[in-house]
Amino acid sequence: MIYRVEGIVIRSMDYGEGNKIVTILTDTAGKVGIMARGAKKLRSRHTSLVQPFTLGEFVYFRNAGLGQLNAGEILESNHQLREDIELSSYAAYAAELCDRAFQDEEVGAYLFHQLRACFDALREGKEPSIVIHLFEMKILEAAGYGPQLDSCVSCDSDSGPFRLSPGSGGILCRRCSGRDPGALPLEEGVLKLLRLFSAIDMRRLGSIQVKPQTREQLKAALRALMDTHLDIRLKTRGFLDQLDRLSLPAIEAAGRRRQQMEASASASGIESNPSEIPSTDTTKGLDGDSDEKLDEGH
Ligand SMILES: [Zn+2]
Repeated sequence: MIYRVEGIVIRSMDYGEGNKIVTILTDTAGKVGIMARGAKKLRSRHTSLVQPFTLGEFVYFRNAGLGQLNAGEILESNHQLREDIELSSYAAYAAELCDRAFQDEEVGAYLFHQLRACFDALREGKEPSIVIHLFEMKILEAAGYGPQLDSCVSCDSDSGPFRLSPGSGGILCRRCSGRDPGALPLEEGVLKLLRLFSAIDMRRLGSIQVKPQTREQLKAALRALMDTHLDIRLKTRGFLDQLDRLSLPAIEAAGRRRQQMEASASASGIESNPSEIPSTDTTKGLDGDSDEKLDEGH
């Protein structure tokens, strides 16, 4: 049978002489493995189509098992996600999550649209850690493990402060927090973000900036939820953690570099080009006005 689908390449591996086997996450056919004959060879018309993170239209023949790629067309190459080391790590992590957290037949159009929006957001320069944490929340929800964040899971009280108890499936108030000695502290800003993440679709993410401390807690919260509910070991996670450890010095270095550039620009009478300077905005706080910083208009 011939299929024509929109899909995103979430895994790509060499196979035999010049061939590739790719896994694509599709809008209508779940996750599918496809053999692309000759795609590894230079000048094959399918070489670009089967690169990781490519969004395309795929036409393939399949009865059972692997499909055979017949034709295809690139809709969005997402080449920026392959060329930038930081973005490619985040994109690889999101792709691996889709690959590993679900069986082929469990995957529906929802996940396809979330991953597509995730890659769009990364490509558009939104804060990658925020993009990925929102994506993790969407994965948890799709797997049936979205946490309850409105009120205490034990007594339904809605007055904080709360702690996050992944094993109980949500937040615990101060009185009930003894039920889970391992529950994580949750500062107000982090709870707000988690609530926001569970309320919005990936496609509605605006521009959000958070303090490093908030980011740390957010990361710990999502990681605890994922580790408790999804039993998967991700190859891409260690690399992301390394990037995280490097990111603080990088932000400080960017600030120093900006000062130097401004100094030399004013000395030479030319203006520095802001597009060449990495943003330092991640150090801005969310202090109670997170809603205003959301751009939900699209
Ligand atoms: Zn309670």
